[in-house]
Amino acid sequence: MTLDGFTGWPPEFARRYRDLGYWQGRTLGGLLHDSARRGPDRTALVDGERRWTYAELDRDAGRVAAGLRRKGLVRGDRLLVHLPNVAEFVLLLFGCFRAGVVPVLALPAHRETELEHLGTLAGAVACVSDDAALAATITERVPTVRRAFVTGSFAELLTENPDGEDAADPADIAVLLLSGGTTGLPKLIPRTHDDYAYNLRASAEVSATTGDTVYLAALPAAHNFALACPGVLGTLWAGGTVVLSASADPETAFPLIERERVTTVALVPPLVLVWLDAAEFLEPDLSSLRLVQAGGARLKEEAARRVRPVLGCALQQVYGMAEGLLNFTRLDDPDELVANTQGRPLSADDEVLLVDEDGRPVPDGEPGELLVRGPYTLRGYFRAPEHNRRSFTPDGFYRSGDLVRRQPSGHLVVEGRRRDVINRGGDKVPVEEVENLLLAHPAVHDVAIVGFPDEAMGERSCAFVVAHGTPPTRADLVAHLTALGIAAFKLPDRVRVLDSFPRTGLGKVDRVVLADLAVRSGQRSARA
Ligand code: AMP
Repeated sequence: MTLDGFTGWPPEFARRYRDLGYWQGRTLGGLLHDSARRGPDRTALVDGERRWTYAELDRDAGRVAAGLRRKGLVRGDRLLVHLPNVAEFVLLLFGCFRAGVVPVLALPAHRETELEHLGTLAGAVACVSDDAALAATITERVPTVRRAFVTGSFAELLTENPDGEDAADPADIAVLLLSGGTTGLPKLIPRTHDDYAYNLRASAEVSATTGDTVYLAALPAAHNFALACPGVLGTLWAGGTVVLSASADPETAFPLIERERVTTVALVPPLVLVWLDAAEFLEPDLSSLRLVQAGGARLKEEAARRVRPVLGCALQQVYGMAEGLLNFTRLDDPDELVANTQGRPLSADDEVLLVDEDGRPVPDGEPGELLVRGPYTLRGYFRAPEHNRRSFTPDGFYRSGDLVRRQPSGHLVVEGRRRDVINRGGDKVPVEEVENLLLAHPAVHDVAIVGFPDEAMGERSCAFVVAHGTPPTRADLVAHLTALGIAAFKLPDRVRVLDSFPRTGLGKVDRVVLADLAVRSGQRSARA
């Protein structure tokens, strides 16, 4: 069933991806079923004291599917999901896959502004949140939303009789992920059962994920990295065990690693630093750990080199995007490549081009914008025709906005971004969205947000403001944004008031000069 607003692959590409075995015609619900048939009594999922075998998880997925149907949700309906790393998230996801309902995966940090936007854009008919007040707000504000579920009322969905039927088709959209890489408001990324199944299978293979893997979901499982690279879904495909962690803090995660004998975890670079320092200090038993995947933002070489001596396991750098393309350093790569590159493409059919501002390929070794096309990279955002015209080349390559260099080995090094997104330790701050929200403050005449370098986070945000009357303080602006309800990582780390903005020759705000000012204004306040 093709949903209105979905741009799929042209038939000749779809045929090729099928013929080459990337797309195997199996749904994500079917993959869980296969794992349950192979090892029904193995442990699939652990959330605190609660545990599910594969047989139990498979049965509960069927129950949730039946529950969703009983509540009136049908194949193709969108369900806005706003949940932390709890078992209900996994059950719900598989219930959706079985029922053909499409989950829209908001991040736990998102608040009403983001959720309203996502629910409206997706045309969601229901929402699920662990926050009852938030769920009520969304039901009120999004006209299409008819129902809200909270984790407390989750039992309503677990009906007595599991629904064995798989309503989805492998070519259907399985899930709508959020884009961290685009400007403006977040966009929705359609991932089909076929393409996402390949994504997670190939990721499991390249990270040696097997039935012996115990994967700790420390990052939000709603994000592509912890969901399917290989993450929760790839581990369940391989027959391993997924352990959910409420937080990625060492205080929470280290005891779980010890107790559950965790082998694999994915982290963003600021967390790698925190874990390295905490491990030296706390001396936990991390002897079961085999692999730390680091991605979402650029990991510094110095941190990369500390992973094995301090955590006692291998490092895999992952440079990926929810839009599709994933790059991994390989487990047998020389240390030099693992420490200094963000890996190479997952698939032999990932067509990666690095181009200059005029769209011409750059010579090897020179930075260029990464364009990509392939068996698990989207051909269009969901219901965003105008944005799609800018984000894709006429022959279907996705313009990532990332500036990347290619080494002779084929490994990529991420140098920065061409677009206005601040990568705050893996959390993406969409500059334009926050600027628009700040413009609504009565004391803000104009605003421009730029990133500045930060040792721990890679980048932080600085909002330059031209005031209207009495200049606002950072506390004023943070209070304003918090009242609107946005994710805390989008709040400006620094606010500076200017009389006017520096302009380029064309009269546009000169963000290069502002970026420089942001660095210098930090030095001033550090001295003060
Ligand atoms: P998201 O979809 O939230 O994962 O964001 C994808 C974007 O994060 C990419 O387009 C890159 O800009 C950035 N990114 C992801 N992984 C890395 C990495 N290992 N090094 C540098 N940037 C990264």
